Amino acid sequence: MNLCDPKCVRELMSVFGLTFRKEWGQNFLTDSGAVASIAESCGANKPRTVLEIGAGAGALTRELANRYENVIAVEIDRGLIPLLKYVLDDCKNVELVCADIMKTDLRSLLAEAFERGGVAVCANLPYYITTPILLSLLDSRLSFESITVMIQSEVADRLVAAPGTPDYGSITAYLGYFGVPHKLFNVKADKFLPPPKVDSTVVRIDLYKEKPYKPQNEDVFFRTLRAAFAQRRKTLPNALAAGLGELSKTQLCDAVLRSGFSADIRGERLSTADFVRLSDEIHGMISASPD
Ligand code: SAM
Repeated sequence: MNLCDPKCVRELMSVFGLTFRKEWGQNFLTDSGAVASIAESCGANKPRTVLEIGAGAGALTRELANRYENVIAVEIDRGLIPLLKYVLDDCKNVELVCADIMKTDLRSLLAEAFERGGVAVCANLPYYITTPILLSLLDSRLSFESITVMIQSEVADRLVAAPGTPDYGSITAYLGYFGVPHKLFNVKADKFLPPPKVDSTVVRIDLYKEKPYKPQNEDVFFRTLRAAFAQRRKTLPNALAAGLGELSKTQLCDAVLRSGFSADIRGERLSTADFVRLSDEIHGMISASPD
């Protein structure tokens, strides 16, 4: 059975009475070289367990099962589970979980896996929910070895963008706090069944074991980031004033100047490290101001 052969996948779907569910981003990868490369790419730090998000018809799941000790594959579509059990029958190291990844308690799902050793994430992510899934993986604070994902190329460009470029945004600066993203390779839309409207890129995020940035107050750091990007067209002091109401615009302008920037700078020019410096100034002012 060749899970990268479109004819074979179509037949399997029909035998199991299934159709490709657009609402769940079911575009299955049918390029065997790309499937193997994604599976290989997530192994840089030799994880013992790989969490796959969205198993689909199991093409990537099998490649992962061939390379790593344990695979935990989460799939939202109940209908795909019998098909997956069939195609993965000989892969005894795969645990299939039928669940919505956004409603899954990752910490408890992966508790045993983390006790055994390193855990990496590998997925051909559904387009409709790429950013929320990435954010929930980062927000879980679980110490994944790496997160390797195939995503829409435009989103990949945003993840790796440099400050001051049009693609740079809050997700870039936020991700920069947790790790370093690397663009690995592109995959054309015609390599999927059914083909999506956009091309894809595989990105591996190497998470910091020890973060190089240590804001004095993490909550203030995240609030500063959010405020800076919520109103991109405004100058930084004006954007901050809309999101950090406990300080006056003059104080926020002062914080921007003291961090080494001019008052007319926009948030999109600041790197993650710059935001940490700025948020430390802001935190100092909040702490010093009377309640
Ligand atoms: N891994 C397969 C491949 O590479 O061909 C399928 C990838 S397909 C782009 C995305 C898969 O994620 C689909 O099987 C879809 O049903 C599943 N999915 C969508 N939303 C999900 C969610 N919230 N939680 C878990 N799986 C989800």
